[in-house]
Amino acid sequence: MPRPSASTLIARALHLRCPRCGEAKMFTGLFRMHETCPHCRLRFEREPGYFLGSIYINYGLTALLTAVGYTTLRFGYDIEARALLYVFLGVCVAVPIVFFRYARALWLALDCRFENDAFFQTASPARAEPQPKRGSDE
Ligand SMILES: [Zn+2]
Repeated sequence: MPRPSASTLIARALHLRCPRCGEAKMFTGLFRMHETCPHCRLRFEREPGYFLGSIYINYGLTALLTAVGYTTLRFGYDIEARALLYVFLGVCVAVPIVFFRYARALWLALDCRFENDAFFQTASPARAEPQPKRGSDE
């Protein structure tokens, strides 16, 4: 299986596709995820607590949107601080929910990019079994 480039991995994450094959969707619903890729059998949750790292991505995006949005609206457009408080309270609740799947997909894509070997080893032990040598049974 060819190793995808960084741009391919990001594109697959933004389309919520498996980072290794790009064929199958990672999620079955808004929050429900396949355990393994239906196409290439890549295990998505690589270890217990694996997706805790995706929280950093989600938090970072939420903090960035809030900081830039608040500063721009408050000081650029002189909008009242109390009104912005309610707007960005909503942003802080909505963005992590909306971005949940993308944060997980991006986390997996990042891991696939930097822990490349772990993602492209033989997927199942059955495939790794040595094949009988041809001509040795004569
Ligand atoms: Zn796959």
